[in-house]
Parts: sequence; structure tokens; C-alpha cells
Amino acid sequence: MAIGALGGTIASTSSAADGSEIVPTLTAERLAAAVPGLAEIATVRAQTLARLPSPSLDEPTVLRTLGWARAAVDAGAQGVVVTQGTDTLEESAYLLDLFWDRPEPLVVTGAMRSSQAAGADGPANLLTAVRCALAPVSRERGVLVAFDDELHQARWVAKTDSMSTGAFRSPVFGPIGRCVEAEVVYGVPATRVPPLRMSPGQETGDPRVPLVATYLGDDGSVLDAIRADGASRLDGVVIAGFGAGHVAARMAEAVGRTAAQVPVVFASRTGSGPTGRAMYGYPGSEVDLTARGAVGAGWLSPVKARLLLWALAARGPVTRDELVAAFGLRGRP
Ligand code: ASP
Repeated sequence: MAIGALGGTIASTSSAADGSEIVPTLTAERLAAAVPGLAEIATVRAQTLARLPSPSLDEPTVLRTLGWARAAVDAGAQGVVVTQGTDTLEESAYLLDLFWDRPEPLVVTGAMRSSQAAGADGPANLLTAVRCALAPVSRERGVLVAFDDELHQARWVAKTDSMSTGAFRSPVFGPIGRCVEAEVVYGVPATRVPPLRMSPGQETGDPRVPLVATYLGDDGSVLDAIRADGASRLDGVVIAGFGAGHVAARMAEAVGRTAAQVPVVFASRTGSGPTGRAMYGYPGSEVDLTARGAVGAGWLSPVKARLLLWALAARGPVTRDELVAAFGLRGRP
């Protein structure tokens, strides 16, 4: 069993008397050593991959973690656990899932309370993640997220609370499993969408794919400024739209101008539910945005849609057909 630590609250400590201003300091070995009973159920190889707050993680760091996880499995690990900060956990888990091409479980976890806090949840979450990664029933399920005794699929899980220890939910589809009394149980059979193939150079390629959230009165000027900024490369844009993926009429024109240059995907900013296909026909609706060249994200959240577009763009220019096919396959259960 391999545990790789990237930092986050689970690895954070405070040097202040009141326990405030925590920062990631703990190594993977220290995290593993703090879990009661871990040594009895697994022989752990722990490696500190980074000690970062998760807002400072990026795609290249996540892909390096992917390489480390693959090497661990190739060296004989039955499963792999990655610990990190919870703020971007839903994103790293999904990026790992897009490329995880092994039957062995890769499980991501973290904590909402630091290691020194009363009722620290890190040890319990790490133990759940290890149990999940060791269980044969977890194989062939892609990347999983273990949190608060629940097991979630990486592509649907989201951080939905800023402070609660039950911060992770999978809107609409729910968790797929639980860990109870040391037993890992799933309510659905093992299935997964086939992983993307990583092209040569992908580990160093880092396309620029911003996420633009729309808002009341959006006139499209922010999107136009991004599109027209000659100083920075642009490889694609994801729009977090209202409701089923809608924008204001003036923003729709900016979407059309952008989609004429680079792939544009629209997603729902609601946090739950899919983008529409044919329900509305007004300027800025899903039908209008599609006619202007944009593609709906389906059930993927804006941040996950952005990672899928990033992964596609990292292989080179993305055609509209490739975009439609990728979101058609990966944007639905
Ligand atoms: N609040 C965060 C966490 O839970 C901090 C981070 O994401 O690094 O770990």
C-alpha cells in the first residue's frame, strides 16, 4: 500500500498557542503513524510529494502525482492513497481519474480539521481511504474519494461546505459506497469510463483554459478581454452559466466570438444537474450557445468540465467533433 501526501489541512499544524494559522508541515510518514491500527492492516510505503495548501496545487503537480501512483502500483502496491487539501480535492481527484489506467484503486482523501484540533478527522479519513484502497471490491472503479466514511466517484464528488467535516457530496448521484465497521461496501457494480490516453509531452504541456463565471448583468466584456488578450495564449474556455448553462444575450455574443477561435464549453453554476440540450431557445440559451459553437458540459460541474477541456487541449488543438464526443461520453453517468 502506498500513501502519497501533498499537504492540506490533514498535514497542517500550528505553532500558535491558540492553534490558529495552520500550515502544511507533516510528512506522509507522520500522517500514517498517526492512524491507530493502520500498521495492523497494511504495510505502508509513505512518500511526501509536496507540502502545499491545496489552492497552490496545479495540473503539472497532479500529473506528477499520477506518475508516482502508477510507479507504486507497478512496484507491487495493492492500492494507492493520496492525501491533500480539501479545497481543490474534487479537481485533482477528477484529473487523476481522467488518466488512471490501472485496475488498482486510487483513493484521495483529506481532512477538515487539522491534526492538532479536537476531533481531528484526518486519521479516520486516512484509515477509510486505506481500507477502500485495499478492498478487492474497489478495483476497476477508477479514482475514488473517501471522506467521512463515504466513498464517492471522482467525477461527481464536490466540496459543498467550507467548514463541515461532512464537506463532500456527490450531487444528484450520491456516494457509491460506505466503509462501516471496517468493511467496504458498494451499492453499485464496478464500472468506469475508459481513461484518456496520455500523449507524449502531456506531462509538461500546460494549456491555458480559464473558467469564466457569468453573473447578473454580464455584458461579455470579461470574456472578450480574455479572448483579445494577445499577451497570453488561449486554448479553450469554460463558462459557468446560469441554470442549465445560460448566459445573458450580450454575453452570448462574446461566447460566439470566442468559440470562433477556441473550444468553448458551457456548464451549470448551480452545483447540481446537467446543462440543457433543447429546452430554451432565447439568445444565451443552451440552443443559442450551441448554435454559436459552444458545447454543453452535461452533468460535469464547471471545474470538472474545465479539467476535461484542459486534458484534451494538452494533446493539441481540439476539434468541435472531439469536444462533442468527449463531453457526450464523460459528461453523463
Ligand atoms: N481547507 C483546506 C483543507 O481542508 C486547505 C487546503 O485545501 O489546503 O485542506
